[in-house]
Amino acid sequence: MYDYLRRFLIVFAVALCIGLLFVSATVSFAEANEKYETVNFIWPTVGMVSDTFGTRSGKHYGIDIAAPRGTEVVSVSDGVVTKSYYSNTYGNVVFIEHTDDFETVYAHLHKRIVEEGDIVYQGEQIGTVGDTGRSSGDHLHFEVHNGNWTMAKNNAIDPFLLLGEDQNTFFVLSDDVKENKQYKVASASTKPELEFHEGSGSQYTVVKVKKGDTLWSIADKYQVSVHDIKILNGLKSDNILVNQNIKIVSKGNYIVQKGDNLWKIAEQSGVSITELKKINDLQGDTIKVGTLLKVRKE
Ligand SMILES: [Zn+2]
Repeated sequence: MYDYLRRFLIVFAVALCIGLLFVSATVSFAEANEKYETVNFIWPTVGMVSDTFGTRSGKHYGIDIAAPRGTEVVSVSDGVVTKSYYSNTYGNVVFIEHTDDFETVYAHLHKRIVEEGDIVYQGEQIGTVGDTGRSSGDHLHFEVHNGNWTMAKNNAIDPFLLLGEDQNTFFVLSDDVKENKQYKVASASTKPELEFHEGSGSQYTVVKVKKGDTLWSIADKYQVSVHDIKILNGLKSDNILVNQNIKIVSKGNYIVQKGDNLWKIAEQSGVSITELKKINDLQGDTIKVGTLLKVRKE
């Protein structure tokens, strides 16, 4: 009787384990799917898909989009440039980290026009299509990593999962694709709401966001306002990312606020209007909100 009971318990325990495995696998699959559904990437360039994810015995960790040299390549989503350099394999390559922990890779570029630490917005140009590195012919090699890029590329996922509704209507290199279907960048560029009118480099210093930093801790540390940091950096939200470069207004400079005018600023800073106009090269009497002004004589 005891033996029978023991056997029964073992079978029960094994069945329970298998059941739990199944449940947890289903849950994580559902979570991944949910995560992908909330992402709204746009296509990184306009061209023809010439190779898909998982080809070359599973060694192709991205998709290839063939396009003429010089075709604009844009960031698929808002993010921060984590790397921008020349590699023997990737050629001119740009890495961008996005929210939700995705990292995208744009390889074989002819030109790169962003640098490490730059903030980029969805649709913002980061370079042009080229044939640099280990590549045969002009094309963009595009990778998406769910998590960080690693040498083994074990976080790579099929970009089609995130690139929008066209994924089910693709016929790679079919005559249909060759003749008619050009996959356009899906949505228009988004620009930061707050406009920043570039001052000279000495008017601000650049600090790199460290783990644990917030806009408030940075504002506090450098004795500036969160509002000014957001204007100066064109930030749309309060979110900042580790390694992001943040510009901080240097002492002796002032960011024009809503409701300001030259008279008010002159009075507050103790510099005459004539002097203000002279040191800032201002032509008229109107100043735009967000303009970085020198308010101290050099
Ligand atoms: Zn490729």
